[in-house]
Amino acid sequence: MRDNIFMIKNINYSNKNAFTFIELIIVVVIIAILFAMAQPNRRPPRASHREKACFSNLRVIQGAVEMYNMDVDSKNYMRTLDLDILVKAKYLKSLPNKPEESCIYMSYGDLSSDTESLVFCNYHGDVQQVRFKTNRID
Ligand SMILES: [Zn+2]
Repeated sequence: MRDNIFMIKNINYSNKNAFTFIELIIVVVIIAILFAMAQPNRRPPRASHREKACFSNLRVIQGAVEMYNMDVDSKNYMRTLDLDILVKAKYLKSLPNKPEESCIYMSYGDLSSDTESLVFCNYHGDVQQVRFKTNRID
């Protein structure tokens, strides 16, 4: 009698055409893991974006150098780029984030003079040259 009651309530799960709940969960978890792995690589920043970020850094550094040189005595002018001094004197919040590993910020000429000096990146080049070219057209 008792066995008969269980037999009636027992639902038949042995339908071979359907997935079990566990199989569905496993598939969903695998898809989620694959999606999570692919996420950081979906949109790598383009080279032109990294170049723009680099030029943006150069403009900030150049501005910081100019502000520094306006505030100090002429004998203490920053003539070659020293990012650590700019950070220490709080003209830069922090060392700039390099958009490329090979970006190294350097200076050419005497930074305390208005002409023929510039801050540049050894990988991307410099911004002033571009600005100079556009000035010539104007
Ligand atoms: Zn660069």
